[in-house]
Amino acid sequence: MRIGIGYDIHKLAQNRDLILGGVKIPFELGLFGHSDADVLIHAIIDAILGALALRDIGYHFPDTDPKYKNADSMELLKETKKLIKGYKIANIDSNIICQKPKLKDYIEDMRKNIASVLELDINQISIKAKTNESLDSVGSCKAISSQAVILIQSES
Ligand code: ZN
Repeated sequence: MRIGIGYDIHKLAQNRDLILGGVKIPFELGLFGHSDADVLIHAIIDAILGALALRDIGYHFPDTDPKYKNADSMELLKETKKLIKGYKIANIDSNIICQKPKLKDYIEDMRKNIASVLELDINQISIKAKTNESLDSVGSCKAISSQAVILIQSES
């Protein structure tokens, strides 16, 4: 068995879509970044890469590469899945730390999206949403951050 951890944070900005876990969420601000800035998916990708000891998301999908401009992070997750050789994912647990908007109505769709791309059962994907108690940049709606852990086990 191997374990991986991932963390990411993106700024909230005007004129950007808010996409979390592949779900477009209605809100007046969106996450800023080279790709679609899906902070949850980026944390999960880093957790997978971490479990495999295969460096990090910036190494595989550099933000200097025009190929990844406005990239759909679910596609990057699909690419990352191909690197999991000889292992299967046991489970993923994650946090989204977001002051606004409320995410509870979107969590199930995010879990479905991730389970579908990784070919897992929805019960293997946990997503917890919490506020930052109005503290710091996340708490003042300037950013959204995310953390993920993954456990992978040998297929044999
Ligand atoms: Zn990111």
